[in-house]
Amino acid sequence: MSNPESISHIIAKQRFFFGQGSTLTLQSRKKRLEALDQAITRHEKTIFDALALDLGKSPEEALLTEIREVKKEIRFTLKHLSSWMKSRSVPTPITLFGSKSRIQPQPLGTVLIIAPWNYPFNLSLMPLIPALAAGNTVIMKPSEMAPATSAILAKIISDAFLPEEVALVEGGIPETTELLSQAFDHIFFTGGEAVGRIVMEAATRHLTPVTLELGGKSPALVAADAHVELAAKRIVWGKFMNAGQTCVAPDYVLVEEGILPQFIKALKKYIAAFYGETPGKSPFYGRIISERHFDRLLALLENQHILVGGIFDRKERFLAPTVLGDVSAESPVMQEEIFGPILPLIPVSDMESAIRFVQNRPKPLALYVFTEDRAFCEKVLRETTSGGACVNDTLVHLSSHHLPFGGVGPSGMGAYHGKEGFRTFSHYKSIVKTSTRLDLPLRYPPYPRWFRHLMNRI
Ligand code: NAD
Repeated sequence: MSNPESISHIIAKQRFFFGQGSTLTLQSRKKRLEALDQAITRHEKTIFDALALDLGKSPEEALLTEIREVKKEIRFTLKHLSSWMKSRSVPTPITLFGSKSRIQPQPLGTVLIIAPWNYPFNLSLMPLIPALAAGNTVIMKPSEMAPATSAILAKIISDAFLPEEVALVEGGIPETTELLSQAFDHIFFTGGEAVGRIVMEAATRHLTPVTLELGGKSPALVAADAHVELAAKRIVWGKFMNAGQTCVAPDYVLVEEGILPQFIKALKKYIAAFYGETPGKSPFYGRIISERHFDRLLALLENQHILVGGIFDRKERFLAPTVLGDVSAESPVMQEEIFGPILPLIPVSDMESAIRFVQNRPKPLALYVFTEDRAFCEKVLRETTSGGACVNDTLVHLSSHHLPFGGVGPSGMGAYHGKEGFRTFSHYKSIVKTSTRLDLPLRYPPYPRWFRHLMNRI
């Protein structure tokens, strides 16, 4: 499905389906989530194969970061959906005497989800779950850069749903451009800042609300009093998972000078422990998505002081876990989101300068602070702005259903995961229900002379 007629046709079919109330009941919403869950289970083997083909992802990592997260989200949503769907009574002011007030969540209608390639399974389906839970019909556009995963997603969607419930459009820029020319009730976009602007601009034409899940340079701050071994271990884990192609990967490290040698030693130790002396042979180390990204990453290594790694194989799109020492804030590697297995270290004389460094840059998607000093940790959290944050860890805030996930400023707008996702894909309608038994005459003109006096008093 890739021409404008068929896209507008499918939207029209979805709108008709939605208009009939087919997505509204708790039962029908649960049925869709269960159908998705079952289709994923049926195709699990092909999902593993696709992720290995697209990103060299091991089944273990695919399970940990893609399939299990999606299944967990479905289970959590099924458990809480009926309470999320309930309307909530709120107090009614005395001026509306004889009325009752409530807030009722309602689906938005037909929504568009556009996904990136780095966690191509997770980031296509994680927004689909709340979109369905909230009672919407959905058009999905996975990334063309992960073609094997896009193909298996198409299979899963057509297995589990009628096209009027969920339809998947495969393709790249032309198909997305076609989709963006249509009027949707919400657009949920995950990807880079540049395309985020294109999506937002297209959405303004129809005044469509958007959620933008973008990226940026997420810093890690390592203070002199940190548990250095664990800091290095958790930074290596968060950085080199998926070969650094993670939106919340620690992009660079601000580390206090005094502990630099010890920190570098620990980084080397854990890179070797996780991926062996020849990471190219590790079944747990991924590949760069495309030659274009591979070449972009290699260019970032030019004129840099390589402390670890730097080894590559273009044919395999393999770049070893790489650590750069003494990186200048002006170097190209510090100008853009790295989105690959390169970790620049920037020594700082004290942690005050680390805070200033972060404050002087665009607000990141995540921030990681490593310290044993509770007061300093609170100071960092208070004085810096980021989408999310972890103390003494990396990435893990993403896996909690109870924490909204999203960026701030240039790292994104809006959030999802758990109930926050349901909220994102719902409209909260304010309703006043007024009794017909009572009809106070005062609100209607002509108003008596003492009316203004009374209004000023109540
Ligand atoms: P991207 O912005 O290049 O592509 C995302 C989607 O937009 C794809 O489906 C693609 O087909 C489409 N697209 C690309 N160019 C387009 C154009 N000109 N017009 C219309 N549509 C277009 O992003 P990517 O390279 O797939 O992913 C990497 C970026 O995504 C990184 O910046 C990363 O930080 C960010 N990201 C953010 C999150 C998050 O949850 N916040 C998660 C993963 C990735």
